[in-house]
Amino acid sequence: MTQRVVIIGGGQAAVSAALRLRSQSFEGSIEILCEEPGLPYQRPPLSKKYLKGELDRERLHLRPEEVYQDLKITLHRETQAHFIDRLKKHVATSNRGAIVYDKLILATGATPRCLPASVGGDLENVYTCRSLADADLLSGEVRPGQRLLVVGGGYIGLEMAAVAIDLGLEVTLIEMQDRILNRVAAHETAQWFRKLHLDRGVDLREGVGLERLIADGNRATLAALSDGSAVGVDLVVAGIGVSANDRLARSAGLFVENGVLTDESCLTSDPDIYAIGDCAAFPFRGEMTRLESVQNACDQGEYVAEHILGQAPANYLPEPWFWSDQYDVSLKIAGFNRGFDHVVTRPGEKPGAISLWYFIGERLLAVDAMNDAKAYMMGKRWLAKGQSPDQIALADPDLPIKDIPTKDTQAAAAA
Ligand code: ADP
Repeated sequence: MTQRVVIIGGGQAAVSAALRLRSQSFEGSIEILCEEPGLPYQRPPLSKKYLKGELDRERLHLRPEEVYQDLKITLHRETQAHFIDRLKKHVATSNRGAIVYDKLILATGATPRCLPASVGGDLENVYTCRSLADADLLSGEVRPGQRLLVVGGGYIGLEMAAVAIDLGLEVTLIEMQDRILNRVAAHETAQWFRKLHLDRGVDLREGVGLERLIADGNRATLAALSDGSAVGVDLVVAGIGVSANDRLARSAGLFVENGVLTDESCLTSDPDIYAIGDCAAFPFRGEMTRLESVQNACDQGEYVAEHILGQAPANYLPEPWFWSDQYDVSLKIAGFNRGFDHVVTRPGEKPGAISLWYFIGERLLAVDAMNDAKAYMMGKRWLAKGQSPDQIALADPDLPIKDIPTKDTQAAAAA
């Protein structure tokens, strides 16, 4: 019988697991070990509304403190897990001694990659934007007229650029690959976002990396770029990806490779230890996969809670979705585009709305919907049912989306 559940990490995955355990009437102890000082919070608004000053700190909190107290979920704040002793089934901590578990959930998240010190990444005005502390430091620097260099053209970099432009900064964004969104989106989506950012005044340079930052004292003042040019800077933000926090798992002898490896039920190589959220890699469509999204963190949290209670299906089956806000554009993504072989473009009903649909053969994999909530909703529905739209009809903007014929491609998905 499981009496003691310990969760390492204090993000969305951790809280989701704890809340689901209680909502499913688990009566044992739940302890969350969290190294950050405050209450668990949402990260996505940090690089968006929070940085713009449009969202208070309290509104970031996933739940108010009373909820944890009422539900008897113990939050050990400012507590680091140092070591997992799998034989004694306890976690050695920085300030709470050894905490014993029956089931342990690793929800340790990911850490942003930093620019190396050799190129000036350790200078005072060089930031990342992942934690609340990062966002607080950064918000002290984002002032109209400042010159910002964003390094990296993924969603984090693009969101940073959009917020900074809205706040009146001068923004240069460099992406070392030949196009932005290279890891996550098709060329068509990248092209759409490139135009958006250029139109809003971002000096966007693709195929350009950072050679090094040149400092005056402790602060970067000039960035030497790989194309031989240089730009003056007042602050620098790196959005160059994250790495999974898998050190604890590795030192405990669990299988780790770009994340803590799990089976289909989120169990690691130890049957009493689960891994969920950004730190975990699980089998998905035949490949070990790490999904960096709030949806996956929350869904895996709920799944393992039910698994512990013997109420979950054998396999965690993700239904990925993701979003990004840039300027007045709302991007919503349903599905996971890995392995796509072509993209179908569908202009939306309203001006400025468009959706890009990823296929492998006849089978729909994902949709990127820009300002097009209808396309997103329909895409999500089709994906959940294992249906794929007729591609010629899809590309016809005069045909209402609800009238587009579909085909059952569930079997192709399972193959
Ligand atoms: P994130 O989630 O932080 O946006 P991604 O991996 O999606 O992460 O995007 C990060 C982008 O940063 C990639 O497109 C990568 O090519 C780019 N990048 C990484 N290092 C550099 C660098 N030194 N200079 C410019 N771009 C970089």
